[in-house]
Amino acid sequence: MAYSKEIFEAAQAIIDERRAVNERDAERRRKAFAEEEPLYADLLQQSILLTRDMVKCIGQGEKAKELVEQANIRRRQLHLSITDLLRAHGYPADYLETKYTCRKCKDYGFEDTAYCTCFTQLLKKLAFEEAAENTPLTCSRFEDFSLDYYSADLREHMEGVLNYCKDYADTFDRDSYSVLMYGETGLGKTHLSLAIAGEVIKKGYYVLYDSTQSILNRLEREHFGKGSGDDYEKLLMESDLLILDDLGTEFSTQFTLAALYNILNTRLLRSRPTIISTNLDLKGIENHYTKRIASRIVGEYELLQFVGSDIRQCRKAEIDAGEDDNG
Ligand SMILES: [Zn+2]
Repeated sequence: MAYSKEIFEAAQAIIDERRAVNERDAERRRKAFAEEEPLYADLLQQSILLTRDMVKCIGQGEKAKELVEQANIRRRQLHLSITDLLRAHGYPADYLETKYTCRKCKDYGFEDTAYCTCFTQLLKKLAFEEAAENTPLTCSRFEDFSLDYYSADLREHMEGVLNYCKDYADTFDRDSYSVLMYGETGLGKTHLSLAIAGEVIKKGYYVLYDSTQSILNRLEREHFGKGSGDDYEKLLMESDLLILDDLGTEFSTQFTLAALYNILNTRLLRSRPTIISTNLDLKGIENHYTKRIASRIVGEYELLQFVGSDIRQCRKAEIDAGEDDNG
């Protein structure tokens, strides 16, 4: 995966800050303990002098080996004395050591000549956050989805749809099914797909949500432009859950059709779940898209039909009539 310069710099800044904070915390504990226990300050001073002596040993030939051995014994004694002092004050033995967020690389972000996993994970996280900047996460929750706007004969069906979505979010993993949410405008498809996104993100998965138009626009820019180095296409393929909102309203070109097929097909092959919402019905999908795209969606996705009349219109009518609005 290729990352942009900005993402690299942002990750490096986070790692540097992490190390500085952890070292500062340890320094603060050492200072406070030296004030609390004067003997510790004394042992610390001895330890500094010892280091100075060891440096002096360099270049003393035969004698050096013996001097270094003596110094090492003395160092171990000092360490034990400090540990005893800590214990006497009720602190753990490692109380004064720096607590690094990543012990492998001591928060430097690399080990030897290779990037540490903490750094590569951070790069990935930042790249996903940047790609997911259009995902509105706070506005849609299952609790706010009201069945009151559906007529009695449709309510049972929509209750089933709501429960399906809750269950999908609860049991989500990388092997979950792909889902096609279809039905007319304003029946809650976007609301429920975002509610799923919110829950799945809470579990620590990478989720990308955007309108199909906006995703294809960005792919097109990256494909035909110079590109900033971010691999948006790879992120689309790698995200644990991809939500394509409003399929069928995008402007189709040969490029977008090929890109769309590539996304849907690759994710199915890799068993990565995708949720698509569309105002088209199944016949509409077959008419609107090439046979291979339509057969991928209609043939391989779980089909979830939304029924009813436009919720937003119902709400508006309620507000206009001066009734209470709980939404
Ligand atoms: Zn690390």
